[in-house]
Amino acid sequence: MRDLIVAGNWKMNKTVDEAVILVQELSERISEESVGEVKVVVSPPYVVLPQVISELWDNSMVSVAAQNCHENESGAFTGEVSAKMLQSIEADAVILGHSERREYFGETNEIIAAKVDAALENNLVPIFCCGEVLEQRQDGSFFNVVKSQIVEGLFHLDNDAFSMVVIAYEPVWAIGTGETASPEQAQEMHAFIRGVVTEKYGHEIAENTSVLYGGSCKPGNAQELFANPDVDGGLIGGASLKADDFVAIIEALKNK
Ligand code: PEP
Repeated sequence: MRDLIVAGNWKMNKTVDEAVILVQELSERISEESVGEVKVVVSPPYVVLPQVISELWDNSMVSVAAQNCHENESGAFTGEVSAKMLQSIEADAVILGHSERREYFGETNEIIAAKVDAALENNLVPIFCCGEVLEQRQDGSFFNVVKSQIVEGLFHLDNDAFSMVVIAYEPVWAIGTGETASPEQAQEMHAFIRGVVTEKYGHEIAENTSVLYGGSCKPGNAQELFANPDVDGGLIGGASLKADDFVAIIEALKNK
């Protein structure tokens, strides 16, 4: 059975003090009893990762992901952080290929593929993002775009390595815009992604791969998105910055 996951991408938000307040609020409300089978992930900015990890030390229900890593282990890459460094602070996962990284920082499928390798070599779960921009949704190329991102970013992995990966489908036109894919659009793409994975890795691995939806997912629409058979949870941006909203989304997934 694949994991049901709610992951909060805090992006470039929260100072250390603010991050500690949020994570303490979450930790008080997230327990084995409250979340059931749902796996919860928070993804704060690099600078607060160690503090957040230490705040969550006694709460095994919440994992911590970075929002990016460099593909090299060390070296002259000013301003960058390696997967090895993330492992050294005991991060659990890393978001890779987020559309903001692709758009603002020029990350190509090739670079993202190298980052996936670096993450796996350092025992970090890659949360691999894919998704089309509005123009690609409108011109009908969106299935091909998402397939290429997955093929070029992930399909060099062998079966064991691929089995570690979580995929997040995030239509770029829905990220931070208040627009959301309809439940039908989400299900259609998630089923397509599972089909693409099946072609390469077979039915069993595809059935065990978690495919999250991201793009203005919030308490008011989480339940209808998560009700779809191929939607295994969400990657949540804006709504992960408030404990009440994030917990409500976790509850929506718990009731799936
Ligand atoms: C995201 O950036 O991963 C995201 C899903 O953002 P939002 O929920 O704010 O649309």
